[in-house]
Amino acid sequence: MHSAPTALAPEWLAVPDDPDDLAEGVWPASAHRDAEGALVLGGAPVADLVRSYGTPLLVIDEGEVRRRAAALRDAFEAAASAHGTTARVYYAGKAFLSTVVARWMVEEGLNVDVCTGGELQVALAASVEPSRIGFHGNNKSVTELESAVEVGVGTIIIDSAIEIERLAAITARAGARVRVMLRVNSGVHAETHDFLATAHEDQKFGLPLADAEAVVARIREIPGLEFVGLHCHIGSQIFGVAGFRESASRVLDLHAVLLEDGPVPELNLGGGFGIAYTRVDDPAPVGELAEGIVTAVAEGCAARGIDVPALSFEPGRAIIGNAGVTLYEIGTIKDVVLENGARRYLSVDGGMSDNARTALYGAQYSARLASRAGDGEPVLSRVVGKHCESGDIVVDHEYLPADAAPGDLLAVPATGAYCAPLSSNYNHVPRPPIVSVLDGAARLIVRGETVADLLSRDAGIPESDSGADPTQTSEGER
Ligand SMILES: *Cc1c(COP(=O)(O)O)cnc(C)c1O
Repeated sequence: MHSAPTALAPEWLAVPDDPDDLAEGVWPASAHRDAEGALVLGGAPVADLVRSYGTPLLVIDEGEVRRRAAALRDAFEAAASAHGTTARVYYAGKAFLSTVVARWMVEEGLNVDVCTGGELQVALAASVEPSRIGFHGNNKSVTELESAVEVGVGTIIIDSAIEIERLAAITARAGARVRVMLRVNSGVHAETHDFLATAHEDQKFGLPLADAEAVVARIREIPGLEFVGLHCHIGSQIFGVAGFRESASRVLDLHAVLLEDGPVPELNLGGGFGIAYTRVDDPAPVGELAEGIVTAVAEGCAARGIDVPALSFEPGRAIIGNAGVTLYEIGTIKDVVLENGARRYLSVDGGMSDNARTALYGAQYSARLASRAGDGEPVLSRVVGKHCESGDIVVDHEYLPADAAPGDLLAVPATGAYCAPLSSNYNHVPRPPIVSVLDGAARLIVRGETVADLLSRDAGIPESDSGADPTQTSEGER
């Protein structure tokens, strides 16, 4: 029962033997089909989840998040220990932050990175100890920096010379001293299997390596600032170690120079570890990655005759990405027949408002029927949203069973990172709720928006109307 690949299918996408299978590594380990063929996540049948919370629905597998967080922490700690140093892992909150997730991170022994005052408030609301918080951002406001100093954030990662003077004034006023790192731009930019190494990277983050020595000298003059080391983050969705090795080598040259004028106890190499969005993605096991990166640093230090600094890392996607699965209901279906093949368009009840990555980055995802097993041969399909925009694509290319029909639930895996955080209200579509699942139990971790939430911001609606249930208004009154 094999259909021939159509010319419209990309080369990497094979026709599946079974268009209902769940690719290992893409889905949470708990994902499976029950005896009837319906999808189960974290022990919870998806039909039950949808009955309680509706669609679209972002489901986060708590066990998967915790396992991945602990595995990364263990891997980096073990690799560091083998090279006579220590490693700290920060969860990059921008990938997906809620108080519940922040608490899981602390419980798994991780720290938390934030990059705005808003993210900082989430971490604090989750009672993350301020000393375990790293504060990033290329344009932190004076108010944001003041609150970071006031609450005693553990590390502020300085991203510009201007920020140093702001922090000098703030710490002087507060009589405080803060640990700071300097974010440098190593000129190495990595993505997936490649990295590009240039002298100067054309981007907004960090300072060029060549400028950093003078900037660190200035930081060291300020009584309120304790310089602890350099920070470098080279990209995202990186599969190999080569980019990290090249970047670490460049940063260690500077690190060694800085040691001549004072202590440089730490080095932060950022995040960016890749995940499997589809079955063709093959990220290295975290143990290999950690070992490879830490070894590169240790060898670099040995070559320069310096001590291996305490290391830190900042994974986001690699912790939460594969733990998330978005559930949609299929609405309309269309077959488009072109000269070189046919493509089926399956429209779902969300889209670029809950997953902008496909439209924004050309990201690839996969999809499976979720409410039941399919029947019939695999059909080349494109999963699209309900927005008024032709780029509103959720899954660009996937083979789905021929009998997928309106009313079926469709699941898109690997949506845990950078989907909810990048969500919008485009077309006045409310953001979906987010639930976590564990051992068959579901828990609402972020409530869904209602149209009333959206209307409540519209200052042109008279007060007396704003509390009305919007679903009750238009039909009857027209
Ligand atoms: C985005 C970012 C991360 C996390 O990136 P992932 O690809 O989610 O691992 C870590 N550190 C910094 C500074 C970042 O900007």
